[in-house]
Amino acid sequence: MNKPAIRNAIEDHVVEAYDQLVVHFKDFCGCETCRLDVLVFALNRLPPRYVIGREGAVVTDVNLDKDQSRAAIEVTVMEGIRKVNLAPRCGRKSGGVRQP
Ligand SMILES: [Zn+2]
Repeated sequence: MNKPAIRNAIEDHVVEAYDQLVVHFKDFCGCETCRLDVLVFALNRLPPRYVIGREGAVVTDVNLDKDQSRAAIEVTVMEGIRKVNLAPRCGRKSGGVRQP
């Protein structure tokens, strides 16, 4: 018995992009709180691609191979890393952040 589930296929791509990009940001905290903040930042700014189950995800993967979609995801994830790095919610001190 298959129970179809609705999911946002962009989430997989954002996680993938984060894993690839975060290594280039040496100063970034990268703890679970900061990681999730970046993922949420990106997911709230990228148009969702809702798919049903696995079959739909494969179709979306094909569509996302277009350079433009991939580039948009990477740019947004990088923006999220920079933004979270300026004021990490986990309490980690970051250089150059003005205290309120
Ligand atoms: Zn952190």
